[in-house]
Amino acid sequence: MHILILGGTAEARALADLLHTDARVTSSLAGRVAAPRLPAGEVRIGGFGGVDGLVEWIGGHAVDAVIDATHPFAGRISFNAARAAATAHVPLLALRRPGWVPVEGDDWREVPSLEDAARALTGLGDRVFLTTGRMGLAAFADRPEWFLVRSVDAPEAPLPARAEILLDRGPFALDGERELLRRHRIDVVVTKDSGGAATAPKLRAAREAGLPVVVVRRPPVPTGVPVATDPEEAAAWVLGRGETQTRFW
Ligand code: NAP
Repeated sequence: MHILILGGTAEARALADLLHTDARVTSSLAGRVAAPRLPAGEVRIGGFGGVDGLVEWIGGHAVDAVIDATHPFAGRISFNAARAAATAHVPLLALRRPGWVPVEGDDWREVPSLEDAARALTGLGDRVFLTTGRMGLAAFADRPEWFLVRSVDAPEAPLPARAEILLDRGPFALDGERELLRRHRIDVVVTKDSGGAATAPKLRAAREAGLPVVVVRRPPVPTGVPVATDPEEAAAWVLGRGETQTRFW
C-alpha cells in the first residue's frame, strides 16, 4: 500500500509517523521552507506541475490513496488534489485541523483576505504583530503602522516600510507570547485562522491583554472530499480501508 501525503503541516508529519510502519508513505512538500522538519518515510519536494502532473505522479508511483494534509490556507493544492484523485481513481481524504473559535473576552475582527486585514488595521493602533506567514505581505506594504513580522523563513518583499522581522517557528508557548506582546508594546495582532494548538497561545495572550485580533478567514475547500480532523482519524481511515478493500493490499 502506497500512501501519498500532501504535507507541510505538523499534522501531516504526525500522520506519516502513524502510518510508515504499516504502509509505504511518501510525504510531499512544496519546498517553500528552506530547512523543513522532515517526516518519517519517503519525502519528495517541489510542485507536481498542476493537476496533470499530480495525476501522472500518482499513476507512476502506484499510489493507492492520497491524503491532503496541507495547510488550510494552501488553497490551490487542495483543489488540485481533488481533481487529480478523481481523474486517477484513487481515494482522497482531507486532513484538516478545525478552525479557531472566539471565546468570551476575544475581540476578533474577521476578514476574508490579507488585503482586508490590512484595511481593517485603520484605527486599531500603531504597533502590529503580523503572524500570517512570509507570503502575501505585499498587502501590508503601504500601511503606515509599525509591524513585528514573525515567520519561519525571511518574508518576501515588498514589506511595510516600518517593520522588524522575527524569524521563529512554532510551537509557541503562552508565556513567550505574553512577553512578546508586552516587550513590543503591540496594539493589534493579525493572524490567519490556521487552527491548531501550536500557534494558538497568541490568541489567548491577546485576549488577556485586551488586544484586538484581525483574523483572516479560511479560503474555500473542494466539496465532496471526506475530512478527518486529526492524524489518528486519518490513520484509521487509511488502515480501515486497507482491511476492507482488497485493492489496497
Ligand atoms: P498552494 O497555493 O495551495 O499551492 C501552490 C502550488 O504549490 C501548488 O499548485 C503546487 O504546485 C505546490 N504545492 C503546494 N503544496 C504542495 C505539496 N504539499 N507538495 C507539492 N507541491 C505542493 O500552497 P501554498 O499556500 O503555497 O503552500 C505551500 C505549502 O506550504 C503547502 O504544502 C502547505 O501545506 C504549506 N503551508 C502553507 C501555509 C499557508 O499559509 N499557505 C502555511 C503553512 C504551511 P503544482 O501545481 O506545481 O503541483
